[in-house]
Amino acid sequence: MKVLMPANLPEALGLLASDGAAIPIAGGTDLLVHWPIRGEAHDRTYVDLSRLDPLKALGWTADELMLGGLTTYWDVIRDGRAREEFPLLVHAARQVGAIQIQARGTWAGNIVNGSPAADGVPVLMAYDAVVVLESRRGREEVPLDRFYSGYKQMQRRPDQLVVAIRIPRRRYSYQVFEKVGARAGG
Ligand SMILES: Cc1cc2nc3c(=O)[nH]c(=O)nc-3n(C[C@H](O)[C@H](O)[C@H](O)COP(=O)(O)OP(=O)(O)OC[C@H]3O[C@@H](n4cnc5c(N)ncnc54)[C@H](O)[C@@H]3O)c2cc1C
Repeated sequence: MKVLMPANLPEALGLLASDGAAIPIAGGTDLLVHWPIRGEAHDRTYVDLSRLDPLKALGWTADELMLGGLTTYWDVIRDGRAREEFPLLVHAARQVGAIQIQARGTWAGNIVNGSPAADGVPVLMAYDAVVVLESRRGREEVPLDRFYSGYKQMQRRPDQLVVAIRIPRRRYSYQVFEKVGARAGG
């Protein structure tokens, strides 16, 4: 197993472009779940994104909230404006695992992991989020509600990273989060 740690986005995109089987790691909370049980499957190249600091921050403009490709649940939970304008994001984030997972796990990782039980994806869809993908070939934007085509099938090529998630700011008169499931965890 090889773990590469690019220092910036162009370097990371270059590594993904040169090895079509390389796998990005953000928080690692989904990838590590399977680590102990499928040891042989991990003999490949991983691209650790943890040094890509510009992808960590969330940002506000007049029209949208922009989550970075490495923004965590905790980043959203502790953002006062997110709590006020996008309470469903905060409710969903608080559902995810325990605080350790909320601090490491990212929204982009939740999207690309593609679990039907994902807690982040439904609220992002409810807010009409758009997935921003980047590769050495350029940028592409895909509305999240058109991102999946089947179980774990999605509009992302192996050389692309989710670099941002755009969420339009709107005035909502009513917002409520309710999780229906046999257990609280995802
Ligand atoms: C104990 C535990 C409890 C959990 N509880 C919940 C829960 O309650 N609800 C829930 O929804 N999830 C839960 N999870 C799953 C996980 O924490 C989330 O899905 C989390 O959002 C994954 O983010 P990550 O950054 O850790 O992803 P990673 O594990 O780093 O990656 C997940 C996938 O996304 C890809 N990826 C990551 N970032 C990018 C990027 N920027 N661009 C392209 N591809 C990328 C990776 O290659 C991988 O395929 C839990 C996990 C654990 C270990």
